[in-house]
This record gives sequence, C-alpha cells and structure tokens, in this order.
Amino acid sequence: MVFKLFKSGDELYDEGKELIKRGEYGKARDYLQKSIDKEGGIDDAAAVKVALIDLRERLTNVNAYRNLLSALERFTSHDRFEFGLTEISRDELITECQLTIRKIELLSSGGEGQALMDKGKQIQKLAQDFQSRIGEKNLIILELFKNDTSVTGMTEFFNLMAVSYECMADAVVWDNPSQAAEYEQIAMGYRQQNGQSGDTNMAKVRAYSTTCTCWLCGRIATGEGIHFFSAPADVSPALDDKDKPTARSRPDGDPQHIYICRACYSAVSNRSDEISRGYYNQTMQEMRAMEARLQAQIAALQSQIAFARMGR
Ligand SMILES: [Zn+2]
Repeated sequence: MVFKLFKSGDELYDEGKELIKRGEYGKARDYLQKSIDKEGGIDDAAAVKVALIDLRERLTNVNAYRNLLSALERFTSHDRFEFGLTEISRDELITECQLTIRKIELLSSGGEGQALMDKGKQIQKLAQDFQSRIGEKNLIILELFKNDTSVTGMTEFFNLMAVSYECMADAVVWDNPSQAAEYEQIAMGYRQQNGQSGDTNMAKVRAYSTTCTCWLCGRIATGEGIHFFSAPADVSPALDDKDKPTARSRPDGDPQHIYICRACYSAVSNRSDEISRGYYNQTMQEMRAMEARLQAQIAALQSQIAFARMGR
C-alpha cells in the first residue's frame, strides 16, 4: 500500500462530499476549501457546496444568499449536482436564491404612506413570481437544512400576498380606514388559504370599520386605535346616553370606558403632559436647592471636624 502524504484536489473534494452525506458540514467545508485552494477552482461544484454550507446557519442573511447565487452563476459545467443525498437543479436553486434575496430585502425595508403602498405592490409582484417560477415545488434550502418540504412556491405566494395587503392597509389607514379594512379582509383570505387563522386580520377589520361618536366633542370617527380610542372613565347611570347618538359613544355594556376621537384624546394627553412637566420641573428645582443646602452643611461639618483634630 502506498502511503500518500498529500491528497489531490479531487480526493479532498470527494472526502468533502462524503462528509456532507454524514452531516459533518464543518469538516466538509474544510476539505472542500482545501480542494479549491489546491485546484484554484472557484468556478466548480466545491465553491457551490462551500457557499451552501455557509448559508446553513444564516438562512435569513441576504449576503449568504448572494454568495451562493454568485457561486451558482459561475458553476456552468453541470445542470444538476448532488448535495448530500439530494440532487439539485442548478437553475432551480438560482431562481430560489434570486427570489429569496428580493424577499429578505423587501421585508426588511421600512416606509410609510406612498412608500409603504409601493412596497406592498412590490411584495405582490414577488408573490406572483414565487407562484409562477416555483409553483407547487418545495423550497430546496429548507428541505436541505431544515428537513422541511412544506414550504412551496404556492405557500410563499399566499403568505406574501397576505403581507402585501397588510402593508397596503397600514399605508392607507391614516387617511382611509374603511379601505384599510378591505385590504385586511383580503389579507385574511390569503392567510386562511395558507392554513392560518387570520385572527389578527379579523381584529383589524373590526377595529378599522368600527365607528363611534366622540364622548367629548360629538364628532363621528371611524377606525378604533387609529382615529378614536377607548379611554377609562367613570360613567354613572345618570350620564349614560339618553338620546342614543348615531354611533355609540362608549363600548357596549362597559361603564368604565368612553370613546374619544383622536383630536380630543391628543389635546387631553398633551395638556396632561404639560402639567406633569410643570410638576417635574418644580420638584427638580426644589431637590437641587435641598442638595445645595445639604452640601453646605456637610462642608461646614467637615471643617469643624478638621478644626477639632488640629486642636488635639
Ligand atoms: Zn372629540
């Protein structure tokens, strides 16, 4: 038997492949990287496998997907390759990387008003791409690393459609709560098609389409939590609505709360903030004066002590 001190790039690559099959990804990465260093093959299957292993612990990291995508784009010699026991289509994984990168970028972006509306529309476009380009097939990365084949192009479609309508609801609720309620209703439909309850959407539909009469000013406001609030109050029976207004001025059967429109609510809370700030400033002033008095007394005591010691 010939003892070989140094392994060739191919041998290192084969060992790396075997280690992946056994789930020893850390060791596999070392072998694959050594084979790349030896063969200089940055455009080969080893580079793709290294990028996949690096992605394993960073499934929400957009750069990990970008690295994998660029490794896949350089790996043009084969249409299919093996990773562990799974055979993967290069083009399908490229599509999944491209869509996932867009997803992570879009979902992590902020925005309000028109920007949020645009974001909602872009998410909708992305949802349709998941539907048309992946469809009923499951996502490869989740199958590889989470053993999860339940996430498909279609489940991503339903999920992202729901998210897109929720974004649009948030974008318009300030100006048009009834439109926001409609969007939430549509989002709920998509969530339910995806096997989710849609309860959060339902709660928003109810809140956004609820109308009240402000207890203080009598204005009609629609959109609970946005344009009017339920505020704790003591409503005695004599004060209860005698001449029923068009919309309720407090929650049904709850004498502990009244409805206040946003304008009245903010006026009351701003005024109470001002009053609190006044008390706070007064208290701080008095505390500082007290501190100065104490400091002076301490200084006087210290000099008396020093004087007494000198006299000993
Ligand atoms: Zn009001």
